Amino acid sequence: MFLMNKKLYVISGSSGVGKGTVLKRFLERNPEFMLSISCTTREPRPGEIDGVNYFFLSRGEFKDCIENDKFLEWAEFAGNFYGTKKKYISKCLEQGKDIILEIDTQGALKVKNKMPEAVLIFICPPSYEVLENRLRGRHTEDEQTIKKRLCEAKIELERSKDFDYKIINDDLEAAIKSLENVINKERNDA
Ligand code: 5GP
Repeated sequence: MFLMNKKLYVISGSSGVGKGTVLKRFLERNPEFMLSISCTTREPRPGEIDGVNYFFLSRGEFKDCIENDKFLEWAEFAGNFYGTKKKYISKCLEQGKDIILEIDTQGALKVKNKMPEAVLIFICPPSYEVLENRLRGRHTEDEQTIKKRLCEAKIELERSKDFDYKIINDDLEAAIKSLENVINKERNDA
């Protein structure tokens, strides 16, 4: 789809694995990377801002984007829709920026299908129990949502078999370092 030289990195991981924190710290240290802003139909969490964390769309608006082929990929996750706009990604790549997508595993595999040079990185928890504790501990979801997300976590782990790299987020600093190593390796190989 785009002329690219390993500039697109896709990061997935189970809900509650801490991938947001790993990424935030990675981006603070490596400001030359752009983080893609996705569209979603889920409600904003307290503190989330439209156009910063996500573009929050109604289901109707999201459906229009699907029908008009605006998405590079989209997926339904735990009852809501999430998608990456083609235009947003091509703009970043045109500016010569390395771009990171933080999306679910279904979306990641769709991106790899369209853009085989994309590098897929999966962030895993040290164990399922640790994941459950983290997800409950953040108090941002109700019980039903937590259960849905734990169920998705098992499916995501299964799909991660087709990823290029796996990073275990046991220790935050070590996980950030591993991510930097993976990306440096890919940049040097390019
Ligand atoms: P959350 O609701 O916790 O922000 O995100 C739920 C899941 O949706 C996470 O696994 C996140 O990576 C994924 N996600 C966020 N944006 C996108 C997107 O544009 N496409 C896809 N396929 N998944 C996304």
